[in-house]
Amino acid sequence: MPHVIAEPCVGTKDTSCVEVCPVDCIHPTKNEPTFGKTDQLYIDPDTCIDCGLCVDECPVKAIFPEEDLPAPWKGYVQINLDFYKSKG
Ligand code: SF4
Ligand code: SF4
Repeated sequence: MPHVIAEPCVGTKDTSCVEVCPVDCIHPTKNEPTFGKTDQLYIDPDTCIDCGLCVDECPVKAIFPEEDLPAPWKGYVQINLDFYKSKG
């Protein structure tokens, strides 16, 4: 089960997590054209290796292993997935 970025990232989006991910599965980065258009960052569930390194980097505790997501944020599983599906 991948890690998932939930609501606290919205409005924070400081990209601290991007730098520590060993498989570069957190997007959009500041260099990508979609960066200014999204409310938050998203984890590619097909690429995430569940290393957990991003969790402690996040200043607002927005990142959870999918199974530990607080109930009100379960919908973020789909929200993270949808970002990558829409990219094709
Ligand atoms: S758990 Fe590891 S692989 Fe998955 S997004 Fe975080 S840093 Fe990247
Ligand atoms: S570190 Fe947290 S708040 Fe910053 S971009 Fe990553 S998930 Fe969002």
